[in-house]
Amino acid sequence: MNNKPNISKVIRQHAEMADFFTGGLMPKTNTHAPQPEQQATSRIASPETIKELEDIAEQTRQCRKCDLGSLRTNAVPGEGNPAALIMFIGEGPGADEDAQARPFVGRAGQFLNKIIAACGLKREQVWIGNILKCRPPDNRDPRPEEIIACLPYLQRQIELINPEVIVALGAHAAKTLLDTPKPIGQLRGFFHEYQPGLGKKPIKLMATFHPAYLLRNYSDENRRKVWEDMKKVLAELGLPVPQGSKK
Ligand code: URA
Repeated sequence: MNNKPNISKVIRQHAEMADFFTGGLMPKTNTHAPQPEQQATSRIASPETIKELEDIAEQTRQCRKCDLGSLRTNAVPGEGNPAALIMFIGEGPGADEDAQARPFVGRAGQFLNKIIAACGLKREQVWIGNILKCRPPDNRDPRPEEIIACLPYLQRQIELINPEVIVALGAHAAKTLLDTPKPIGQLRGFFHEYQPGLGKKPIKLMATFHPAYLLRNYSDENRRKVWEDMKKVLAELGLPVPQGSKK
């Protein structure tokens, strides 16, 4: 089998996706209305919350609860606004993330940046993390025992940040956070409820395709589906929904 990437196809996909998620799709701004940037940063995290998030990050760096702890270069605790209205949750770090100790900094991350920008937001305004804090070797799927060991870190991060909406990127994040075996195709496109714990208010969760899946399975239809999902998230938050989708 020829596994060589088709360079011209990859370049075309990037150009088309950049166009879809940015060019022509940015919100039509009304200079008198609060801008999404302002609206999305109206909350402030307490010093206690910031301190505990830092403590969790440090715990993940020391963590040896599963084998991944001895295989990683760096733990990737997650990053962003501790008072974010939106938390984007992926599957687990890849090679770039493992090297840099930061989530979504590789190809999939650049695509996620485009999605965030198309929403009229900046990466620093949202929070970005993963189900797993350490990279599974060869980017294999997370194993159940790894998820069980790692999930409490993310659960506490969600509890502390307490976002209005969680965007679960891909099947692993969606199935784990919703505790369901349903495929992503059945989960995406509408809001679910994430249960942060007994007696706590549920948090709206939108599942959508993982950016890496979209890069591998590029089509207008898949691209449009992700955009539809994000428009629902913006509407739920009362943020301006960009007009003028291509289709
Ligand atoms: N894919 C993920 O799921 N998470 C990352 O941080 C990077 C790629």
